[in-house]
Amino acid sequence: MDTEFDLISRYFRRAAPAGMLGVGDDCALLAPRTGWQMATSTDLLIEGTHFLAEDDPGSLGHKALAVNISDLAAMGAEPLACLLGLSLPRIDHTWLAAFTEGFHCLAQRARCPLIGGDTTRSPAGLVISVTVLGQVPAGQALLRSAARPEDDIWVTGLLGAADVALQLRLGKLPANPDLLAATRDALDRPDPPWSFAPALAGLAHAALDISDGLLQDLGHILEASHCGARLDYARMPIHPAVSRSGLDPDVIQRAVLAGGDVYQLCFTAPSEARDEIQACARRADVLATRVGVIREAPGLHVIDAEGQAVSLPAGGFDHFS
Ligand code: ADP
Ligand code: MG
Repeated sequence: MDTEFDLISRYFRRAAPAGMLGVGDDCALLAPRTGWQMATSTDLLIEGTHFLAEDDPGSLGHKALAVNISDLAAMGAEPLACLLGLSLPRIDHTWLAAFTEGFHCLAQRARCPLIGGDTTRSPAGLVISVTVLGQVPAGQALLRSAARPEDDIWVTGLLGAADVALQLRLGKLPANPDLLAATRDALDRPDPPWSFAPALAGLAHAALDISDGLLQDLGHILEASHCGARLDYARMPIHPAVSRSGLDPDVIQRAVLAGGDVYQLCFTAPSEARDEIQACARRADVLATRVGVIREAPGLHVIDAEGQAVSLPAGGFDHFS
């Protein structure tokens, strides 16, 4: 028999860290540090809309948690714990084992243990809901509204690969198995900089995670902070498989500037913080690259190595061009 309780003890229950009460009671208990604020965020993933039934369950488990941990990182918060709601059309042990393996593996690495959730039958497709809880020193969270003129603009990680993998999968780029093999992890197994981001609290100004594309997401910071920006395309940390791909430079540029599903950070910080930011990035084994500057005048401009304006790919940021 597969009762709800069998599933819980088999797939969800793990030893809770010291000081926390995890799966098994009516509520989980946790103790945020005094003088810190809780940060929380939730994401709902629906079969057929956000993923397909045939998607690899291990990657899905990883990504469902990763996109939430990315939101914590975008606030400069460190992960505390997470909750998982699952609505299942049927009990498929192969699927559940792989999904929870992918989920727990990232949860353990990012120190974001699963401490509770809910499991129900779904009359239709699969529904996955993940909630993360994190903590950040009071007053130090990285808000979208906190960018200031003359701030450096930084990004973490590499750009372009997730979008290229997606376009290859959708058949919008010519089939290229080697390029797909080199880029698919960026799309399926995003690795947000959870170990680096807490170091930015109190050091950086504004931040967000890149989910819809660098230009569009940076646009949210500019709007909330009432300022503009200049980006240097030549400085962009382009994934080497993409820069070597032989793809049309316009395709690469679109992937780098407008490609979504990145789950890395874009943040702004005063230029005095450069050395400390790089030192923190090295300690966390994260790539941090300065790609532009915040300006008082509104508008988002991208320039190439010669200082010429780059014509921006069409998309939801036309009002900045
Ligand atoms: P309740 O009746 O209080 O809602 P449940 O029987 O739904 O309790 O769940 C029992 C325990 O298992 C609770 O601690 C709950 O948080 C946990 N749990 C249920 N489903 C999940 C899940 N998908 N992931 C993690 N924990 C879960
Ligand atoms: Mg319940």
